[in-house]
Amino acid sequence: MTRHIPEGLPDRIRHFIDGEFVDSVGGETFDVLDPVSNETYVQAAAGQKADIDRAVAAARRAFTEGSWPRMLPRERSRVLHRIADGVEAQDARLAELETFDTGLPITQALGQARRAAENFRFFADLIVAQADDTYKVPGRQVNYVNRKPIGVAGLITPWNTPFMLESWKLAPALATGNTVVLKPAEFTPLSASLWADIFREAGLPDGVFNLVNGLGEEAGDALVKHPDVPLISFTGESRTGQIIFGNAAPFLKGLSMELGGKSPAVVFADADLDAAVDATIFGVFSLNGERCTAGSRILVERSIYDEFVEKYAAQAKRVVVGDPHDPKTEVGALVHPEHYEKVMSYVEIGKAEGRLVAGGGRPEGFPTGNYVAPTVFADVPKDARIFQEEIFGPVVAITPFDSDAEALELANGVKYGLAAYIWTNDLKRAHNFAQAVEAGMVWLNSNNVRDLRTPFGGVKASGLGHEGGYRSIDFYTDQQAVHITLGAVHNPTFGKQEHHDETDPDDPDPR
Ligand code: NAD
Repeated sequence: MTRHIPEGLPDRIRHFIDGEFVDSVGGETFDVLDPVSNETYVQAAAGQKADIDRAVAAARRAFTEGSWPRMLPRERSRVLHRIADGVEAQDARLAELETFDTGLPITQALGQARRAAENFRFFADLIVAQADDTYKVPGRQVNYVNRKPIGVAGLITPWNTPFMLESWKLAPALATGNTVVLKPAEFTPLSASLWADIFREAGLPDGVFNLVNGLGEEAGDALVKHPDVPLISFTGESRTGQIIFGNAAPFLKGLSMELGGKSPAVVFADADLDAAVDATIFGVFSLNGERCTAGSRILVERSIYDEFVEKYAAQAKRVVVGDPHDPKTEVGALVHPEHYEKVMSYVEIGKAEGRLVAGGGRPEGFPTGNYVAPTVFADVPKDARIFQEEIFGPVVAITPFDSDAEALELANGVKYGLAAYIWTNDLKRAHNFAQAVEAGMVWLNSNNVRDLRTPFGGVKASGLGHEGGYRSIDFYTDQQAVHITLGAVHNPTFGKQEHHDETDPDDPDPR
């Protein structure tokens, strides 16, 4: 296979601090690989505490002295729309770089680039429509909410759909007038640098956006522990979320966490079987299975179980694995050899835990690169590791059930609670099941199609708090309550009485 290498790759990936591309203060770097050859194609600056200090100082200055937090929402909105224009104008280039760096199929990377633009457009519109609460107490008080940006927001993002997930945090953080330090994932730092030029051309003032590349345990850790960063928005593994939670605790930081998942797709016998097969194939094999909301456990009612498994396995075998840059490719290469090893180890574990009906290893014709054949295990028991643990690759577990109650118990029987997909044409069952399932987001007879206004977030080990629409605005702002007295001052008066006994006989409740 000929390897596609984009033209004009940078000779070094740098940080972007206070309007300038810079190396690490101490000159540290790390290797960046592409997932098709697993060869190092570039060095990236490895941010340390000193680099985070520099970036936070720039962001802090831009917040306390700069124009961005003080602009009218309409002015900020114009800049955000220009950012969206900038992303759209280079969506093909963005997709090419993202595909090269992550191994995501090019058509899906293009969709993600457009979604990134949409995130900016959405928040550009939202902040000009934003109204805050006012409460009247007739004749006595008016109270209003004075919404304010908080300061320097620390944004820490994962490697699956990196550019899109960065936009998800950058857009609301900037829209609300904060300044930011972004720490992208170390497996996939290539596309994040594009923000710098897009932002500059759109008119974002220097120091408002700062980017520090580097490892989680170094740059990420320093950002979480920086006293001048009151907010951390994190997307990544649940285990990392726990570490960040602990490290942020002494500072009582605001935290928003989007974490791992092991989401169920529940298929009842009365469902439209063909639609359910199509959707559940897409649900776990799109984005190479490296998708937090992947429907990686499929629960199927016993009476249609055999038919479902047969159709599903046959279709999974037809999913096109290929060069990520080929528009015909449906599953590309996994992001990194370390992640590939992890996913392959689960494929081996699965062979002892379930019945392999498709895939099961490296696809034929791909001797190198991080390729995994779409892999399907049937008859997977609920205590199996491949049922319980997030694999984050093109691997799915199918399990039969006999009753609604058993389906619910299986669906809820994992530590995660991000998404759930339910396939049934019975209206009552659909709603009762949706309301009982432990998941932050539920789709009924649908794939993962999300309106940007809806809350996004998980329950249990899948997250903390919700973003999406106004909830993101709430996370990135303080809501100060201002109380104004209208009538006479209504004060209980202390300290004007003559001295007398400690207990007042007129006070009915002398506590
Ligand atoms: P990860 O937790 O390994 O890393 C995420 C980010 O955290 C990276 O930038 C990393 O450098 C940084 N990091 C690591 N250790 C850190 C530390 N001690 N302090 C500060 N930062 C640190 O996750 P990943 O492997 O990059 O991403 C895959 C995971 O992300 C999966 O579990 C997936 O489900 C989850 N995810 C969740 C959502 C969601 O919205 N719920 C979306 C996408 C991905």
